[in-house]
Amino acid sequence: MHMLIDGKEVAAADDRWTEVKNPATGEVIDRVPLGSETDVDAAVESADAAFGMWSKKTTRERGLILYHAAEQVRLQHQNIARQLTLEQGKPLKEAIDEVRGFANILEYYAAIAGKPAGEAIHLGNAGDCMVMREPLGVCGAIIPWNMPVIIMGWKAGPALLAGNTLVLKPATATPLANLKIAMILRDAGVSPGVLNVVTGPGETVGTALVKHPLVRKISFTGDCATGHTVRTLAAHQFKEITLELGGSDPMIVMDDADIDRAVEGALRGRFYNAGQVCSAVKRLYLHEKIAADFIKKLKARTEKLKAGNGLMPDSDIGPMTRKESLARICAQVEEVTAKNEGTVLCGGDTLHGKDYEQGFFYKPTLVTDVACESSLLTTEIFGPVLPIMTVCDLESAIAEANRSRYGLGASVWTKDVGTVKQIYREVNAGIIWVNRHLTVPPEVPFGGMNESGIGRENGYHALDNYTRTKTLYLGW
Ligand code: NAD
Repeated sequence: MHMLIDGKEVAAADDRWTEVKNPATGEVIDRVPLGSETDVDAAVESADAAFGMWSKKTTRERGLILYHAAEQVRLQHQNIARQLTLEQGKPLKEAIDEVRGFANILEYYAAIAGKPAGEAIHLGNAGDCMVMREPLGVCGAIIPWNMPVIIMGWKAGPALLAGNTLVLKPATATPLANLKIAMILRDAGVSPGVLNVVTGPGETVGTALVKHPLVRKISFTGDCATGHTVRTLAAHQFKEITLELGGSDPMIVMDDADIDRAVEGALRGRFYNAGQVCSAVKRLYLHEKIAADFIKKLKARTEKLKAGNGLMPDSDIGPMTRKESLARICAQVEEVTAKNEGTVLCGGDTLHGKDYEQGFFYKPTLVTDVACESSLLTTEIFGPVLPIMTVCDLESAIAEANRSRYGLGASVWTKDVGTVKQIYREVNAGIIWVNRHLTVPPEVPFGGMNESGIGRENGYHALDNYTRTKTLYLGW
């Protein structure tokens, strides 16, 4: 596939290409341009030229275009989802959810098109003020490979509705579904230059986008270390920034919880998308009274999960998307065993030994009695491995949950309102779920505390990320 710059499907300026491979089979499925700084310049200049026209449309006009685009994405969702499974690996049913989720996001922003508002301030004899919100200009969106379609929606929906233009850089491993959607949006009426996609490596294309003087805002989702680099670069030019980074979400199950429901919650919360979700369940804390029963049930369910090519209808869990991620998970679990930092209850290995030609599959894995210094607890586990610990009461559960440099999400499984209140007040996380984990519909603000990031995506408030206030003071 080609990149999308100024509404045209183009190769890189120097005509270099890079292959996209299927992580389930190792097969080359397509190639995309290996973009460079020159291509970023062209995309940003096109976005800058389109800004005047796009920002002058009424919010309702832009909302109608987004609504129409969502309709087209829905019509083609099977085709886009298949593309996503081929490049990312996730089971087709998860890919379909994700593409429909993208359409939901555009529809949500289209539906609130009449809502962005400023305020009027009456100052008595001193006059009146009108405070309006205006778009920022050209925005840069840098996205990861784990949920590329939904994250494209989280950025493009509010940015475009608010009147900005966008240059998006997909992850190197997963550019195809993003490109396909961008072309559908163009054909649905998103004018040339309003949404551009430049493919290529983060170190060159990503850096060039962050450094470009015409880019007024960067919205980045990815690893904490990359986020730190991006923030430092953006700070030199006082750019606005949103950072959605990693997480190590705790799930706490109290002794009054509905155990069967919580087991299903842990299963989905950890193994959805082969565990490659920022707000997946990454640490499971069980009240000691229910721990044995819970672990027995969870182990039985985990061992039934079928790992396989995402295109096969009976696959519950696909491959990991990248060889590096698989190697890291292998090393983390090997370290636990070598250092006696926990007990591997099931899984704990790849599906096909070191034969990566057969795909980057890792078996769904449970590890019990994990030592607090283990890297399974101190770093983000971005794969299908779940560390399980027991706690004796709510206070120790909260203390363990907060023993993390992250603060993205957390969940508590209980029927007790007092427990919910205490968790909500004392656990450091951007979102606390009660009796569920992972769900983030477009209405719900999402983002982290501490090293999980800066700012919130989703919901009405995400429009604040893509606008600034401007005040008119009327002295009369
Ligand atoms: P990554 O940081 O390696 O890459 C993310 C994007 O940044 C890619 O497009 C990459 O090409 C680009 N990039 C790399 N180096 C860059 C640089 N120097 N300058 C500019 N751009 C650069 O992250 P990843 O491995 O693709 O994604 C996984 C991470 O993303 C996990 O930590 C996960 O938790 C996090 N994530 C967070 C959220 C959230 O909403 N908080 C959502 C999804 C994923």
